[in-house]
Amino acid sequence: MRRVFLVLALIVGVMAFLFFLSYRSNGVPVLMYHMVSDWSHRRALAVPVKEFDRQMWYLHQRGYQVMSLETILKKLNSGEPLPRKTVAITFDDGYQDNYINALPVLKKYHFPATVFMPCSLVGEKNLWDIKRGKAEVKMLTREQIAEMMFHKISFQAHTSNHVVLTDVSPARARKEIFDSKAGLAGITGKNVEIFCYPSGRYNNQIKGYVKAAGFNYAFTTRQGRIKPGDDPYTLKRIRVSGMNLLPDFIMRLEFIR
Ligand SMILES: [Zn+2]
Repeated sequence: MRRVFLVLALIVGVMAFLFFLSYRSNGVPVLMYHMVSDWSHRRALAVPVKEFDRQMWYLHQRGYQVMSLETILKKLNSGEPLPRKTVAITFDDGYQDNYINALPVLKKYHFPATVFMPCSLVGEKNLWDIKRGKAEVKMLTREQIAEMMFHKISFQAHTSNHVVLTDVSPARARKEIFDSKAGLAGITGKNVEIFCYPSGRYNNQIKGYVKAAGFNYAFTTRQGRIKPGDDPYTLKRIRVSGMNLLPDFIMRLEFIR
């Protein structure tokens, strides 16, 4: 009897501590997705469609305010307060399944999102992955991008060809970064102000190029929320993979700081 009581007290204590943690922070979680697809070969990258729907449903019914990344960054930068349950949704690479599988779910909940798209791969395939022997996947087309923009999906830069910037010469890295800003703006007709490092790889020189190209922010793949006072060129996100079922998704969303 006494043991049962102790176990219960421990559980209540742990839950109270977790709630304390979740109320304490004012950081904003920026969710990082790649593919939304039932295709099961790359669970690390592909969130099954039903799972994605469940996750968006959770945000909706828990009263999360899904805001565009651009709005959140502007408000954080100017010191404007954000609702405690603010969250942003991002997709890396611009796979065609984002249009086929993710857009209908986002539309259902009226959620905005941002896609980090390598501009030279619009209407192409995942050429950088195919080179490394990975299976072919189609990327978004211009028409799909236009329709997504109509439904509050924004597009931001991810180099021109999905080049891992620390693996190429400084000159090539610089060109990939500079070209991606003008190239994507040419497709969307919008200002491109946010950059995302492919595979999350960067160094001080690369950060300098991103700044010099006129980007105001850059995202990594490091785990954590974005907070006032963060270095705008090494912003963190919260990774969601096909391995994260709903309880795991909730833990990542609510408790990663
Ligand atoms: Zn990528």
